[in-house]
Amino acid sequence: MDYPGRYWHMLDDGRIQCDLCPRDCRLHEGQRGACFVRQRAGDRMVLTTYGRSSGFCIDPIEKKPLNHFYPGSSVFSFGTAGCNLACKFCQNWDISKSREMDTLMDQASPETIARTAARLGCKSVAFTYNDPVIFAEYAMDAADACHEQGLAAVAVTAGYIHDQPRREFYAKMDAANVDLKGFTDDFYFRLCGARLQPVLDTLVYLKHETEVWFEITTLLIPGKNDSEQEIEAECRWIARELGTDVPLHFTAFHPDYKMMDTPPTPPATLTRAREIARAHGLQYVYTGNVLHDREGGTTFCHGCGEALIVRHWHEILAYEVTSGGHCGTAIPGRYAAFSGPFGRRRIPVRVHAQTA
Ligand code: SF4
Repeated sequence: MDYPGRYWHMLDDGRIQCDLCPRDCRLHEGQRGACFVRQRAGDRMVLTTYGRSSGFCIDPIEKKPLNHFYPGSSVFSFGTAGCNLACKFCQNWDISKSREMDTLMDQASPETIARTAARLGCKSVAFTYNDPVIFAEYAMDAADACHEQGLAAVAVTAGYIHDQPRREFYAKMDAANVDLKGFTDDFYFRLCGARLQPVLDTLVYLKHETEVWFEITTLLIPGKNDSEQEIEAECRWIARELGTDVPLHFTAFHPDYKMMDTPPTPPATLTRAREIARAHGLQYVYTGNVLHDREGGTTFCHGCGEALIVRHWHEILAYEVTSGGHCGTAIPGRYAAFSGPFGRRRIPVRVHAQTA
């Protein structure tokens, strides 16, 4: 379905410029942007993936990862195709690099998605697998439909978006996990085809101008972004610009896509990164994509050091968060009555219009 896209203007030379993300694609008739899913059709832009998904799954919210947003709840997850970054290490490249629209199996309106998620008992709907910035109109409409059903809307994103659409997009979101893929512009430019500053702008915007709950993820890649100096610089910036209570997840790289020759991240690298972050005052630092690191998955009370939420591989093993906070120290995030964890299951779901 070709849906009228927003965020563009006509240039004097007759091309159309997309104003959604900092790639600023300038398109002649029929051309697609770098994300592949936004296309010029005549004198307008269209979003070619509105209402089409690469598939639906029910996941634990911890898998997004979000550790302070209704822990233990289930989230109805979906993505489309394409991406506005070009990460050589992409861990979802079959979706994000897809130029074949036949990967988009399921068709679903925003209302169908929200009603299906509610019927299946999910607390929220996540726009994930590929970056929702490029299907912003679809994600925002789905977020509206979720709110009508009493569900939350979650964006899993690289945060690479221009200022005006950023405001409109996050006005619809309740939570986000934002990838901070590295902490040098050189890393962003050479390995992601992007720039660092717009991502930092998104994080500062979320912290200081919205009520969106957000957490940050950094995938550590051996020899690329895992030096102590770079991790220290990132943690120093987070503490100074965002505060020490923003959760930070360090996750492990696995060889994929165009970086099959790079080894997986040693668990010791993640543990060391977590130590650095905590030494810089960050209060909620997690490690992910590694087995046997229960401490790195656990939420500790910043006041007394008590283990409040013990996790292992997306599964909650113990939950001690109380509404008044532990030892008087409130734990930042969004919480509801805990009725037991969803567990580490991942349940594929087929969505059809008639299932709503
Ligand atoms: S959203 Fe897509 S078309 Fe628009 S500037 Fe970014 S990559 Fe280009």
